[in-house]
Amino acid sequence: MKSTILGFPRIGKKRELKFTIEKYWKGLIDQVELKKIAAHLRREHIIYQKEKGVDFIPSNDFSFYDQMLDMCCTVGAIPKRYNFTGDEVDIDTYFKMARGDKNVTAMEMTKWFDTNYHYIVPEFEKDQTFSLLSKKVLNEYKEAKKLMIESRPVLIGPITFLLLGKNKYSGESTLVHLEKLLPVYKQLISDLEKEGVQWIQFDEPILGMDLTREVKDVLVQTYQELTKRKKQSRFFLTSYFEDFCGSEDILPQLEVDAIHFDLHAGSENIELLKKLNFGDKIISLGVVDGRNIWKTNFKEVIAKVEELSKKFKKDKLWISSSCSLLHCPYDLNVEVNLDHEIKNWLSFSVQKLEEITTITKYFNEGAQSVDDLLKVNREAMNLRKKSSKVTNKKVQDRVFGITNKMFSRKSVYEERKLVQRKALNLPLFPTTTIGSLPQTKEVRSARSSYKRGALSEQDYNSFLKKQTLAAIKKQEEIGLDILVHGEFERNDMVEYFGELIDGFAFTKNGWVQSYGSRCVKPPIIFGDLCRPKAMTVEWSSYAQSLTDKPVKGMLTGPVTMLKWSFVRDDIPYSETCKQMALVLRDEVLDLENAGIKIIQIDEPALKEAMPLKKSKWEEYFKWSIDCFKLSATSVKDETQIHTHMCYSEFNDIIDSIAALDADVISIETSRSQMELLDAFKKFKYPNEIGPGVYDIHSPRVPSKEEISSLLFRAKEYLSPNQLWVNPDCGLKTRGWEEVVTSLEKMVHAAKELRSLSK
Ligand code: GLN
Ligand code: ZN
Repeated sequence: MKSTILGFPRIGKKRELKFTIEKYWKGLIDQVELKKIAAHLRREHIIYQKEKGVDFIPSNDFSFYDQMLDMCCTVGAIPKRYNFTGDEVDIDTYFKMARGDKNVTAMEMTKWFDTNYHYIVPEFEKDQTFSLLSKKVLNEYKEAKKLMIESRPVLIGPITFLLLGKNKYSGESTLVHLEKLLPVYKQLISDLEKEGVQWIQFDEPILGMDLTREVKDVLVQTYQELTKRKKQSRFFLTSYFEDFCGSEDILPQLEVDAIHFDLHAGSENIELLKKLNFGDKIISLGVVDGRNIWKTNFKEVIAKVEELSKKFKKDKLWISSSCSLLHCPYDLNVEVNLDHEIKNWLSFSVQKLEEITTITKYFNEGAQSVDDLLKVNREAMNLRKKSSKVTNKKVQDRVFGITNKMFSRKSVYEERKLVQRKALNLPLFPTTTIGSLPQTKEVRSARSSYKRGALSEQDYNSFLKKQTLAAIKKQEEIGLDILVHGEFERNDMVEYFGELIDGFAFTKNGWVQSYGSRCVKPPIIFGDLCRPKAMTVEWSSYAQSLTDKPVKGMLTGPVTMLKWSFVRDDIPYSETCKQMALVLRDEVLDLENAGIKIIQIDEPALKEAMPLKKSKWEEYFKWSIDCFKLSATSVKDETQIHTHMCYSEFNDIIDSIAALDADVISIETSRSQMELLDAFKKFKYPNEIGPGVYDIHSPRVPSKEEISSLLFRAKEYLSPNQLWVNPDCGLKTRGWEEVVTSLEKMVHAAKELRSLSK
């Protein structure tokens, strides 16, 4: 048995790469320095793996921004607007593609499958041509070789590369470019072979999605074709984040030498392994979770591998991470402040290397060779299971006692609507915002002073109060109908709540790359969730006390709280979600009791959390919708529940969104020019809805006419009583000046529409 991983994080233990790249962008260092630090990091990552005894070490898993963007450069898919003519893409063109500049827009970016990592979306022209325009793959292979490492270059496979890309000219399948693309892959393979490459990894995570017959056939043909031309190298095909169900028929036919199975996210993969005949292919077993932070349970994994080794010869098996470790934080050892008990249950990327080599050693050299490590692991597992930090009987009893009645409002929407209209006395086309208002430098620096201890709690609070007061006044001046308190007290919509809920832990350095140089630090849910006291009532009540207009209470929904955290692996995901929903249910009631008449529960991650395979959607929506409703439905009829969603297209799930039964939803649309409205042709949205009419991702101030025209289009599909007027998302990343002008235009457009409708 051999050990391997699919890829290592690249951002650096202390986010060195992030800071270096940002310095380069600011012109503080030159290219030589940038490349030097990158090479240093790559070397460090290889040495880690070597020291832990990983047999097959990947290369080209490093990236200055994103692996899909790297692939665009490698195969020469450089959109024309970057005016690139040379024969090797330079770093400035590369960053321009990622980020744009004053003169040219960036390439589109979107989420990588169901993760919070974002990739750059390849763009193709009619008659797109390709050519090898980067030596990155080759250089990084050679660089590893200098360290005496025979590395395995990682490439995004041609089919995933094309299918994740977009044609800029029409909606035809991007696979039309395959014929022209493949010669570049062949050239690359041949260049690598000249350097002596032994293994090449092709990532084809598209295999975890629902594939048509045509795509499956193309996959088989493509690897046949690539294999025909290769010499000594061997091909390692990977897919992750899902099982191979639906594509299992082509697995044995794929002409590759090794196939990777994700045994964490791929629930059915183990059965497929038992069932199918793989001939003499090597099978890589992704037994160490690349997307979560828990210690691997050696006993369970060893049993799993043992069972499989009845069928597969030991020399045909590799022990691996379920996906690239890119989605895991770096090194647990730097977490000096983390609770010791909890820390003992965790494992980050560096620790996972050791887990992989330990399991491999167990099979190669016998149980006694790793006896100590197994014992330590067993103890940690037992301690976690028995820990009083994990279980809270009261919470479990409450979850057990959830009844069907708790999933619905007292009356149906049609009746609630009437009561709410009376209670809230809102005009037609009510105007509001999504919650956060500009988090200025001042706000951020006050928060960091407070966290550092340089600002007292009292001073910090009075600073926040001043901000809130000013924000309420501004919103009144602008003439908005429903106000928000502005969320100045919040750093992040998940972290803020997590810090107030028992069962969450926070790391100091548990950073994971989100996009480019941006990293996130997801909190860790380790135990049953419980709210010691109200979390938002103080701020909402304070804001409400300053105005006669209604102020919306603002909460993060249960699905989003989980999706943007590391979640427990010892109870079902849906169970943790129910606990979260109960916490929010209490908060909603507290807000209502404090006199808050409108409460918004944000679920921006509802779509992102959807399973990749359609066959799993129904079950997902069942529990996720239930959890949203569990959090929202305890209120009186006159209390209006809002929700908010963004970051994706919602057309295909609009019926599930309606099933949430929120009285009002605000939803991102303005970037897609109201594509969402297409969905309303087929589906009559039952409740009220505010399709975003102001794109908050750009500093540009929209004109009143633009907003009006979006509203007019929306009005064609929605009745006047249904339509709300709001931006696409929260305004925290914007500056006050643009926000005030934009909102004034928005309010103006709404008022005009009102008078036209009289
Ligand atoms: N209420 C949050 C805000 O306005 C919602 C953020 C989001 O949808 N991502 O910032
Ligand atoms: Zn949003």
